[in-house]
Amino acid sequence: MKKKLHFNSRVIHGGQKIDKSFGAVMPPIYQTSTYAQTTPGGHKGYEYSRTHNPTRTALENSLASIETGKHGLAFGSGLAAMDAVLKLLKPGDEIIATHDLYGGSYRLFTKIFEIFDLKFYFVDLQKINEIKSKINKKTKLIWVETPTNPMMNIVDLQVVSNISKSNNILLAVDNTFASPYLQNPLSLGADIVMHSATKYIAGHSDVILGALVVNSDDLEQRLRFIQNASGAIPGPMDCFLTLRGIKTLGVRMDRHCSNGRKVAEFLNKNPLIEKVYWPGLIDHPNHLIAKKQMKDFGGMISFIPRGSNYDNAVKIIENLKIFTLAESLGGVESLSGHPASMTHASIPKNIREKSGVLDSLIRLSVGIEDHRDLIDDLDQALNV
Ligand SMILES: *Cc1c(COP(=O)(O)O)cnc(C)c1O
Repeated sequence: MKKKLHFNSRVIHGGQKIDKSFGAVMPPIYQTSTYAQTTPGGHKGYEYSRTHNPTRTALENSLASIETGKHGLAFGSGLAAMDAVLKLLKPGDEIIATHDLYGGSYRLFTKIFEIFDLKFYFVDLQKINEIKSKINKKTKLIWVETPTNPMMNIVDLQVVSNISKSNNILLAVDNTFASPYLQNPLSLGADIVMHSATKYIAGHSDVILGALVVNSDDLEQRLRFIQNASGAIPGPMDCFLTLRGIKTLGVRMDRHCSNGRKVAEFLNKNPLIEKVYWPGLIDHPNHLIAKKQMKDFGGMISFIPRGSNYDNAVKIIENLKIFTLAESLGGVESLSGHPASMTHASIPKNIREKSGVLDSLIRLSVGIEDHRDLIDDLDQALNV
């Protein structure tokens, strides 16, 4: 048996073949909608680019390889990938999901799929009894996000997968915040891993793209059917950009994690800060679970300035010079965000505050710049 390559080799070679036509080392951008046939059905494996495209195939093979799965599927966005998973279900089916979900996921569930009579329960998945109390014959899917956005709660994937398996329920994990470098949910018992590859996987804030990775051939076939039938596919240029980003995923993540640690520790010992949410801190409530299932703790940090409210949280964000105020995360550049008015604005205030998304909460996506400049920037913004 061929020895499996390590992660930092798989990001470069995983699932890739040298181009047959001219030996191009990088997969060419096959910017074509269709493929010549010599006779009806006489083609070289590709007929129409909604169904498949060689650049997308190269990306899908890479995604499967880095997420330690058998099959990868690429979509036009992270939400398009989620949309495909939900289309595995039928009216009347029930879904149990993380209560502090990414705002766009919550909107997709409640504003689109509830209309088609899917029923969602939003539950604190750290509480096993709460999960169990919602399970019945109609429960078909558990949707987990870990670490969660923006509260950095950690859900124990092994525990949830034991529950999903013993009840014959599909387990899907949104692995966007961890990236395939830090956590591989399939190896912890998940059936489907979903990524907004827009974030760490592509990593350069220049593309919107989504991914699913599965091991089961049956799930792959059903999802592939939905991918083609609903058509939310990415174009070849975006697939190329994502493949290019993947090559440096390992080295970028190492820096995101070490910078994340330095920024979290700076904030944690700063008297102007009330609370820091980063799973690498030993006083983080889920630190031990994070340590068990993740390789390191990532570059996403949320914090609450001492005695702050909406206005002075916003003022601190506006004072930051290197951290750019913007939606999104996971790129090489550091970003700041105000979840209550940005990523989580689509969640009603009473629901969002229940899970800790207060008006004073600030979220950072720590990039790969020199950590000294990032800390200086935070220091000046807090002291204006
Ligand atoms: C951004 C994001 C999504 C949505 O992905 P898009 O690529 O923007 O469609 C889903 N889940 C999480 C955790 C995200 O951060």
